[in-house]
Amino acid sequence: MLSEVNTSLLPYNTFGFDVHGSELIKIENKDQLKKLYAEEFFKSPFRVISGGSNLLLTQNIQEPILLIRIPGIEKIHETDEYVCIEFGAGENWHQCVLYCVENEWYGIENMSLIPGCIGAAPIQNIGAYGSELKDVFEALKAFNIETGEIENFNLDQCQFGYRDSYFKQQGKGKYIITSVILRLSKIAKINTQYGDIQNTLNQKNVLNPTIKDVSNAVIEIRQSKLPDPAILGNSGSFFKNPVIEKSLAEKIQSTHADLKIFPASESMVKIPAAWLIEKSGWKGHKRSHVGVHEKQALVLVHYGGGSGDQIQELATDIQKDVAKKFGVHLEFEVNIW
Ligand code: FAD
Ligand code: NAP
Repeated sequence: MLSEVNTSLLPYNTFGFDVHGSELIKIENKDQLKKLYAEEFFKSPFRVISGGSNLLLTQNIQEPILLIRIPGIEKIHETDEYVCIEFGAGENWHQCVLYCVENEWYGIENMSLIPGCIGAAPIQNIGAYGSELKDVFEALKAFNIETGEIENFNLDQCQFGYRDSYFKQQGKGKYIITSVILRLSKIAKINTQYGDIQNTLNQKNVLNPTIKDVSNAVIEIRQSKLPDPAILGNSGSFFKNPVIEKSLAEKIQSTHADLKIFPASESMVKIPAAWLIEKSGWKGHKRSHVGVHEKQALVLVHYGGGSGDQIQELATDIQKDVAKKFGVHLEFEVNIW
């Protein structure tokens, strides 16, 4: 098992903070987890990193870190209508999307170019452009750190919600996801309803889009709006879109007619956090080494030479200001260590 001591975590967090990890252990198969279990590794605190694209590192990490790099792509079931593929937790999400697009297996093309690994995708039920992981989810396998056994989780057991799952709630810190099985459609099912996709296809005069057209449109939109972490440190959306009482949203709308409201349940609606942040005057805000992205107010950025504390401080200031101006609490989407 490969292990590094007192190592820089710079390559393992997309914010680009150069904090240190006391020990980084690369996990490439399930047997290594079992071996660690036998050595009573899981009796002490530890951390898990996959792609580090949903993490804010505010300090050096004293606990050993497991870096999940379990590979594998295997077709485990196929009918005329669908195919079930088991992906190792360490596979890169976007590469898996491209693989499915090439094979014309429908379901995850709207989630093209999301950074990170397959094994982290169920943790917050990743989603974009009208699709969510749960829509194609068949099952996952996870290592239980208390029993040392691999357990199977079906859709219900994962308790997926909006950017949420069992693994962010009661199951937090108790499991290491080792593989994820997706059920992808072999029958063409394209979803271009999400505004930006249809507009992009229209601009290109694509009347009957293929799966590849949709994936390419999503990639193009994302590249035009979102900062590339390789160039400008960030962790995507720092805040979740709040789900609030419909009455509160309507009250805000009475003075701000441009607020968009999306139904969440009978009495609740989702409103864009980016709108709240922009209306509060934070879009493009810069303070020393960190700031709010000028094209997307949900994305906090690190210009280099800063610290995770500075991002956390900025995020807290935004949170307080939005609460004061609109009475809405913004929840952090990013995991803070
Ligand atoms: P990490 O950041 O390494 O880990 C995230 C959390 O999961 C941590 O708590 C970690 O301990 C835990 N974890 C990781 N792997 C495992 C495992 N195998 N078992 C158990 N726990 C584990 N997210 C979206 O939902 N939609 C988007 O459109 C989107 N766009 C983004 C765009 C950019 C530019 C960036 C930087 C991020 C974006 N994100 C988006 C956020 C992020 O990419 C996703 O949340 C992604 O799934 C995180 O994967 P990761 O491998 O980087 O996880
Ligand atoms: P956008 O298109 O400007 O839309 C703003 C917000 O309105 C989105 O966050 C979205 O919520 C909501 N929305 C728009 N159309 C909707 C519809 N038809 N039904 C329901 N909700 C709708 O968003 P954007 O910021 O450019 O992001 C585009 C997509 O990529 C979004 O799905 C977003 O979640 C995803 N994304 C996520 C991250 C991340 O780190 N989590 C980073 C970048 C982009 P939803 O967010 O619920 O879709």
